[in-house]
Amino acid sequence: MKTNKINRIVIAGGGTAGWITASLLSKVLGQSIKIILIESDKIGTIGVGEATIPPIIAFNNALGINEKDFIKATNATIKLGIQFENWGKLGDSYMHAFGDIGKNFPFCEFHHFWVKSQQMGIPSNFWDYSLNYQAASHNKFAKLNNLEGTNLPGISYAYHFDASLYAKFLSDLCKKQGVERVEGIIKQVNLNSDSGFVDSLQLENGLKIEGDLFVDCTGLAGLLIEKTLSTGFDDWSHWLPCNRAVAVQSDRLDPVIPYTRSIAHDAGWQWQIPLKHRTGNGLVFSSKYLSDDQAIDLVLKNIDGKLLTQPRVIGYRTGRRLKQWHRNVVCIGLSAGFFEPLESTNIHLIQTAVIRLLKNFSHNGIQHQEIDEYNNQTKNEYERIRDFIILHYKLNQRNDSDFWKECRRMEVPQSLSHRIALFKKTGKVFREQDDLFTEIAWKQVMLGQGGIPLDYHPLADTLTDSQIKDLMTSLKTLVDRSVSKMSTHEDFLLKE
Ligand SMILES: Cc1cc2nc3c(=O)[nH]c(=O)nc-3n(C[C@H](O)[C@H](O)[C@H](O)COP(=O)(O)OP(=O)(O)OC[C@H]3O[C@@H](n4cnc5c(N)ncnc54)[C@H](O)[C@@H]3O)c2cc1C
Repeated sequence: MKTNKINRIVIAGGGTAGWITASLLSKVLGQSIKIILIESDKIGTIGVGEATIPPIIAFNNALGINEKDFIKATNATIKLGIQFENWGKLGDSYMHAFGDIGKNFPFCEFHHFWVKSQQMGIPSNFWDYSLNYQAASHNKFAKLNNLEGTNLPGISYAYHFDASLYAKFLSDLCKKQGVERVEGIIKQVNLNSDSGFVDSLQLENGLKIEGDLFVDCTGLAGLLIEKTLSTGFDDWSHWLPCNRAVAVQSDRLDPVIPYTRSIAHDAGWQWQIPLKHRTGNGLVFSSKYLSDDQAIDLVLKNIDGKLLTQPRVIGYRTGRRLKQWHRNVVCIGLSAGFFEPLESTNIHLIQTAVIRLLKNFSHNGIQHQEIDEYNNQTKNEYERIRDFIILHYKLNQRNDSDFWKECRRMEVPQSLSHRIALFKKTGKVFREQDDLFTEIAWKQVMLGQGGIPLDYHPLADTLTDSQIKDLMTSLKTLVDRSVSKMSTHEDFLLKE
């Protein structure tokens, strides 16, 4: 193993992954290490990736980003969750709302009491007790740490933003933090003949960029990690069957809603991402069931408002790179793998990858133990998210198309089939180590698409029927009161 100290980091690629990587590395490592980012205006970026999840707030804070500046610069809106339409049966709708729901008791979470209330015949919807869902469905938003007058958690939120403006925002920040940007197309990756490590990148314009550590952020191309080092790919297309997307932008919504919509169609699903100045739309589909032309027709038929761009088709393969750190190359972003955008996890994975790289950073030359640890942590993180995304496909109840019937019939990873069976029978759900998604996220998808579990935790019987009734009434009153006092999402954005 090469033992040179890392003095120069070269980031290949300037999409969202490249600039997020550069911004955190330069913020944390300061001027002690030279950071160079190579990007090519001629190649451009993938140009999608506009919905995020709540941990982005902590990440932006770590970069010292002012929220108002960020919202203004990226035309961002607030995201309180994802509304899934037609994912259970045709006509069904539920939300994976961020934040917790109801009030958890020691050893017995709220949903057990709610399941009991259903068995008692109390008419209510699980999301009556979700502050995020109620705010989203009334187009409201306010920053609330707690549900008013209680210590129950308040609003949890993320953003929708313009991906190219976000990359620009971060590149300005990087300039101030000393990152050197080099424009040019990488035409060759030069390997050291002894160690097999990457020595330098040869650009078409004649420049040769040398480094000690290389971060492959070249997107689906995977120029260093795959095209040069051939590290292999764990293909998940038998579980995540969609392999293409059509993306198109349209006029802004009126009003601008504070949530993403995910609408299931016959052979895939459509996203609607509301930004301040326009709307991002797209259809994720399986080429086994739909041609590109059919997909374009379908998405255009389901868009309200004027089109602002021509539809663009993007092909991809779901899965992950088998080694995300190999020799002196770490891959981050689409070069590392891709799930599909269903739960907006890819930008988050870029952020956790950079944090992980910093935690495993080689201060005295690259050690294979650090590489192994990094790869192991990444594998676990990816596989937990993979299961959560497969869950949506597996739990559909649609009989109107072969695509959905096939998804329902598919064998899923054992880790997932266990979770589904446990919840169905007992109402219990547990967060595994390295699980990004908390119990409440799993519960919402399982309740939203799979239905109410057969049983609840016996501790829910410690409350009498009338106490259960009072609990449900008082929680709903608290949520409704808080939402009634919030400003509209649009008013919040106007003030930002
Ligand atoms: C359809 C779709 C929808 C998505 N929606 C979401 C979402 O809602 N939320 C989310 O979190 N994520 C989403 N993603 C993922 C998200 O788009 C990516 O994770 C994110 O944009 C990062 O991409 P990237 O920087 O890895 O790749 P890219 O944006 O493709 O950037 C690659 C960079 O490498 C450069 N490059 C490539 N080859 C060379 C070369 N030879 N020489 C020099 N430079 C080169 C390019 O110029 C570019 O700068 C979506 C992805 C797809 C496909």
